[in-house]
Amino acid sequence: MNATDFDVVVIGAGIAGATSAAALAADRRVALIEAEEQAGYHSTGRSAAVWIQNYGPADVRVLTGLSRAFFAAPPPGFAEVALMQRRAVLFLAPPEQTAALAAMLAEGIGLRPIDPAAAAALVPALRPDYAAAAAIEDDAFDMDVAAIHQGFLRQLRAAGGMLALRRRAGRIVREHGGWAVTTADGTVFRAPVVVNAAGAWGDEVAGLAGVAPLGLVACRRTAAIIDPAPFDVAGWPLVNDVAHTWYARPEARTRLMVSPADETPVAPQDIQPDEIDVAIGIDRMQGALAIEVRRVERAWAGLRTFTPDRSLAFGWDRAAAGFFWCVGQGGYGIQTSPAAGRLVADLVAGRDPGAAGAVVAAIDPRRFG
Ligand SMILES: Cc1cc2nc3c(=O)[nH]c(=O)nc-3n(C[C@H](O)[C@H](O)[C@H](O)COP(=O)(O)OP(=O)(O)OC[C@H]3O[C@@H](n4cnc5c(N)ncnc54)[C@H](O)[C@@H]3O)c2cc1C
Repeated sequence: MNATDFDVVVIGAGIAGATSAAALAADRRVALIEAEEQAGYHSTGRSAAVWIQNYGPADVRVLTGLSRAFFAAPPPGFAEVALMQRRAVLFLAPPEQTAALAAMLAEGIGLRPIDPAAAAALVPALRPDYAAAAAIEDDAFDMDVAAIHQGFLRQLRAAGGMLALRRRAGRIVREHGGWAVTTADGTVFRAPVVVNAAGAWGDEVAGLAGVAPLGLVACRRTAAIIDPAPFDVAGWPLVNDVAHTWYARPEARTRLMVSPADETPVAPQDIQPDEIDVAIGIDRMQGALAIEVRRVERAWAGLRTFTPDRSLAFGWDRAAAGFFWCVGQGGYGIQTSPAAGRLVADLVAGRDPGAAGAVVAAIDPRRFG
């Protein structure tokens, strides 16, 4: 089977591929191909779903900020539900983290110090001896990741783009001045441009095309759901320490999601949680919050994939014509996604990306190798 009439083939239908494909489809014929039966099965479906301005490297913070307006007011018909739900983020500093908190406050956007007593008023389970200082980001929010992801896939289809599930790219060959991407079922997708949005598999997909890897590292992150009763956590902020060694976030109004903020390098795979990480997360959370944990209701893990310098890698490959990288989203792929998709489309088209232009040099994949 041949599917030849495309301008761009995007590989990977997580949030990175979905946003890029939707933006590209505005003026190009786009095929978005995904190995799994379901788009979003890997990292995109496993996130903590929070937008935090004061998180990640400088390039990420720029795209996070530029994405905010989209989440607040998406285009008409994009989704049937609100994409954002206000939730503050509370940063707690035990005595050894107060210098780091001061540095964070000095460079942060929309961050203000609050005293530990005020923090305890927001989170009544806070142990009185845990935090020597604290800060709060009031303007953060929970994101409805499924609605965001599906909204972009709908945009893609509405613009005439194709989403092809169960199509694992197995062979990527440069021929006749373009790329031929052959998927496991034998379909061949041809286009002058390939966008590699394969997340943890980014280097593997590059390898299929004979393109040198960037040195991506996939890291496991674990999350567990517990019942925090008798505390009513619905209105709590997300709570974490400044060094980001754990965090806890209200989930579905009555539950708490707890993570050890782990970053264990692993091979790309359908990653599962390790019990020890679940236990570490609960132990660290309990060091700060007096919450009894009777049982873990559910646990999961997902991959956060980083480039060697932890900034994004969006741009053309240094050697392979028509091969565009869109990888290295780490722990920020959802909160940066609207601006990231637009930026990818602008760079592919050679257009001026406006305010996002500030990060183009920092995220150019040609900085590696
Ligand atoms: C526990 C956890 C909490 C997180 N919390 C947040 C958060 O609060 N806020 C935030 O913004 N981000 C968060 N993240 C990060 C966010 O989830 C990721 O940055 C984002 O999902 C990455 O999206 P992606 O599209 O690059 O990857 P993925 O969603 O993994 O998509 C890549 C896709 O490529 C496909 N693929 C791979 N190889 C091939 C091939 N050969 N052919 C076809 N398809 C292929 C895969 O099947 C996969 O579906 C979190 C991540 C985790 C794990």
